[in-house]
Amino acid sequence: MANFNMQPNKNEMPMQDPIARGKNFSEVALGYTEEQAINEANRCINCKNPQCVQGCPVAVNIPAFINEIKNNNIDGAYAIIANTSNLPAICGRVCPQETQCEAKCLRGIKGEPVAIGRLERYVADNAKVKSSEIKEKNGHKVAVVGSGPAGLTCAGDLIKLGYDVTVYEAFHTEGGVLVYGIPEFRLPKKIVKEEVDKLKEMGVEFVHNVIIGKTLTIDELFEMGFEAVFVGSGAGLPNFMGIPGESYKGVYSANEFLTRSNLMKAYREDATTPIMKGGKVAVVGGGNVAMDAARTALRLGAEKVTIIYRRSMEELPARKEEVENAIEEGIEFKLLCNPVKIDAYFNENDKRDPKNGFVKSITAIKMELGEPDENGRRRPVPVPNSEFETEVNTVIIAIGTSPNPLIKDTTSGLDVNRRGGIIVTEEGATTKEGVYAGGDAVTGASTVISAMGAGKTAAKAIDEYISKKA
Ligand code: FAD
Ligand code: SF4
Repeated sequence: MANFNMQPNKNEMPMQDPIARGKNFSEVALGYTEEQAINEANRCINCKNPQCVQGCPVAVNIPAFINEIKNNNIDGAYAIIANTSNLPAICGRVCPQETQCEAKCLRGIKGEPVAIGRLERYVADNAKVKSSEIKEKNGHKVAVVGSGPAGLTCAGDLIKLGYDVTVYEAFHTEGGVLVYGIPEFRLPKKIVKEEVDKLKEMGVEFVHNVIIGKTLTIDELFEMGFEAVFVGSGAGLPNFMGIPGESYKGVYSANEFLTRSNLMKAYREDATTPIMKGGKVAVVGGGNVAMDAARTALRLGAEKVTIIYRRSMEELPARKEEVENAIEEGIEFKLLCNPVKIDAYFNENDKRDPKNGFVKSITAIKMELGEPDENGRRRPVPVPNSEFETEVNTVIIAIGTSPNPLIKDTTSGLDVNRRGGIIVTEEGATTKEGVYAGGDAVTGASTVISAMGAGKTAAKAIDEYISKKA
């Protein structure tokens, strides 16, 4: 079972009660009070050679911003973070800090690391002055494909450098996974909207409902006068297991389930968006997406939600805080198990029975951990003859996503690797001149902060490319 320290920490962030929050979509973690933030900041010992900065993919100057919190100078702390991170309110909430900045904090060697993410969130939520310096317009135009964290960051950095930036987004709204994937109870959408509004105020233009590769091609963007294009189209294509029964009614990819709930507002009582609510739900997978799908199903009224994951608790890739929250809310974990088939209900005597074709159970096989794979993680191996069946009404598959091939298929000269990720140099340049890429479209499903880091790197490279040409 869970190996995490569930003891309340003295400086624990206030949270909604687990029973109450399992029935609503309001934010679970409520943020530090001023006193808590200053106490937590004072735990930072300001070491001579701070490692935490190296743990952050965009190298936020952590000791410096924490020092400003000690002095209760929140605007000063914000200005320091904003030098490197465009979306601190988001990163403070969703970064996997325990494997990034906090993993390197020296206080963590003998106890709890400083809660860097929570402090970053406190600063972003409480700073009053959040302005950014914008250079004079330079007359050059750049197009950005996709408004997820990679696209938003690239657009933000380029507009500050004086470029005219237009973001083309397939959906009717901006934010990418931040709005259609990560649920409201973990990342309130008003926070994403505030960040997008800031970009709009700075002059970034957003064009919605345009699918690059269908409505317009990358080559057409160049014909329209854009001198460079950044592709931040993410990895929205869900993977399936390839087992029998995946096309029955009541089987969803996590992407579809979460999009229906988040973007199409199925969670609202008055919503007409179809979605399975109630009953018994199985979620397959162990990452953040699986936790979000499970906790969303619970809030939509499921009587029981079970996560099925093929490795053990120690290998769960989800953020530690989300796993702890899921356990507290009553999500059940069936570990070391892997689904082998899904069965549906069929009434042979009544072909018009409305229940026909709907999921009735999932069969899984028990697993044990064998030799480590190429990444050093022990490989799960099936235990012969250990299959068991569990009655369920809904199955949500959250075993990863891949980049959509649409842009590759419609752009000559744009090379991708065998997993569909766009091939780029360290600077984010693709194999097609003037086209840059970053985020999940390059790496496959990864993290918000690494997508932001890639957007930043590409913005710098685009600026150099256009400046050299001019
Ligand atoms: P995306 O966020 O996917 O954005 C891509 C955008 O491009 C989308 O808006 C899409 O509509 C648009 N687009 C796609 N194709 C086209 C096209 N052809 N034309 C125009 N627009 C297009 N990471 C964390 O760090 N912490 C977490 O807690 C966390 N939880 C997650 C929970 C869920 C449910 C999911 C799905 C992911 C989670 N992640 C988390 C991962 C993280 O959200 C992603 O790594 C990150 O959003 C990738 O950013 P991106 O900008 O590359 O792509
Ligand atoms: Fe840590 Fe993320 Fe903030 Fe970097 S951006 S300091 S990794 S919480």
